[in-house]
Amino acid sequence: MAHQVVECVPNFSEGRDPAKIRQITDAIEAVAGVRLLDVDPGPDTHRTVVTFVGAPEAVLEAAFQAVKTAAQVLDMTGHHGAHPRMGATDVCPFVPVEGISLAECADLARRLGDRVGRELAIPTYLYEAAASRPERRNLAVVRKGEYEGLEDKLKDPAWAPDFGPAVFNARSGALITGAREFLIAYNVTLNSRDKNHATDIAFELREKGRVARRGQTDAFYSSGELLFYREGCFPCGNCGFDGATFEETARHCLEAHGYDLAHLLALNDIDATRGVVGRKAHRGGLFRHCKAIGWYVDGYKRAQLSINLTDYKVTSPVDVLEATRRLALARGLVVTGSEIVGLVPFQALHQAGQHYLRAQGKSPFIPVADVLENAAFSMGLGDVAPFDLERKVLGLPPSHPKGLMAMTGRAFVDEVSRETPAPGGGSIAALAGALGAALASMVANLTQGKAADAQAEAALLEAARRGQAAKDALVLAVDEDTNAFNAYMEARRLPAGTPAEKACRLEAMQRGLKIAVDVPLASAQACFEAMEAAAAAMRHGNPASITDAMVGFTMAFAGLRGGLWNVLINLKDITDEAYKAGMRARCTELLQAGQTLLAEATSEGEARLEGMLGKG
Ligand SMILES: [Zn+2]
Repeated sequence: MAHQVVECVPNFSEGRDPAKIRQITDAIEAVAGVRLLDVDPGPDTHRTVVTFVGAPEAVLEAAFQAVKTAAQVLDMTGHHGAHPRMGATDVCPFVPVEGISLAECADLARRLGDRVGRELAIPTYLYEAAASRPERRNLAVVRKGEYEGLEDKLKDPAWAPDFGPAVFNARSGALITGAREFLIAYNVTLNSRDKNHATDIAFELREKGRVARRGQTDAFYSSGELLFYREGCFPCGNCGFDGATFEETARHCLEAHGYDLAHLLALNDIDATRGVVGRKAHRGGLFRHCKAIGWYVDGYKRAQLSINLTDYKVTSPVDVLEATRRLALARGLVVTGSEIVGLVPFQALHQAGQHYLRAQGKSPFIPVADVLENAAFSMGLGDVAPFDLERKVLGLPPSHPKGLMAMTGRAFVDEVSRETPAPGGGSIAALAGALGAALASMVANLTQGKAADAQAEAALLEAARRGQAAKDALVLAVDEDTNAFNAYMEARRLPAGTPAEKACRLEAMQRGLKIAVDVPLASAQACFEAMEAAAAAMRHGNPASITDAMVGFTMAFAGLRGGLWNVLINLKDITDEAYKAGMRARCTELLQAGQTLLAEATSEGEARLEGMLGKG
């Protein structure tokens, strides 16, 4: 099953009464499959930021229960705090973490808004990626006027809520929900105690840029003389260009430096439409979706760049770290390491590890744990504090820490041999496939950088990628096969007194049986992937490893065959004839493809082997 993780970060207008906050977080934790990560109350803002994660449906349910509880427990009529707010649940963003897109998270926000509007009669606005129109994207704009202005705002047709009645709900105010990317808080540490060293680099990185200067007297940009926009002379700030008009300079910045000057000035609170003569000239920073400042941390005795990355898919931690390393070097400084503040999505760290592996000429398709370790070392994540993967990384691939694959090889084989029906053929078939996939990846990775030509190199890289993916899926399947019948067994225990109960039980049993079919079918498909990867590794890989690849596709075929046998036997009690016929056809097709591949790859492999042995 696809591994999906969504983060939800609702803000509630209550920061002082722990009992009330507790009622809301209890409602969140009561939903199965949701993990509460953080509760951060602010007495001055009179606001609490709550963070929880889980699978999409569970997170959506928990978000609704939280909004519902907040509507019961909190009363906006007497609320005052130092933070802008419009409702009891003020803002509720859904954030993609793993296996889900921003658009799908926007859909969760729409479903929350719809239900809140209908069941709780709370007017609801959508913002950012879920916004129904461009002018509602910005949270500050949607929240303008705050709770006190909401009654009038709702009377304005331009501000009709996206969901719920356009009627002022005095107790709850309005909900603002939406979707945004994960915010990564990331600090880069320097070998310096001087905060100005960090600030000078931070201003080079951040989207907001910095005031432009010329005539630096040392390596630091801030040592130069300030530039101003004057009548007839609008300096670019990045290069020696001076435009005769603001428009000319704006055009130059877009063409030569890739940014919108008016937008840059707006980020610096300068409205270009009102004229800029007499204002300080500005230059853009290197990265979009990047905020950065410099500070000194007494606990570390080091200056740091404190960075917020609001869309790591556009600007990643590696992007800013490598730029910082270059800028530091030019200033005689050294980056000693970096630090993830709070949490980081698995993909962000995995991609970082793969980036450094590629840069080293290594295959990026090696076991996940090795890639993450490489990321932690390359980024110096343990520099100022220990970096604990389990605690810091959200959306790590699923595992069964107490399952069969956590046993020693010896204990596992012994367990199979005991007089208990499980683990049996299904788990062994998955394990055979996993080993075949692992061999495919091994041979491909061994030949990385040594292949005959670019085409062979690309084929091997793809074989390593598919081998790793199939291996990870099949390792999970070793344990999941044992649980494949759980839904069926639970259904069998349902009451069967009345005819209605009997029908309900039978239907649940049929659903359970289909799950017991899906698990080995998915394994068989992963085994076929492993076979193809192993065959490609044999064809293009190092000849010295040819028998490893041949063992690989032979083992994976055993896994495929075993998976299909399990599909067929689990089909026998299913009553849906159309489903059975369709499934049998898929099995036949997959089996034929596997048999053909096995026959061809075996004869090709044996011919190559004979050639190597000098008998050909
Ligand atoms: Zn320029």
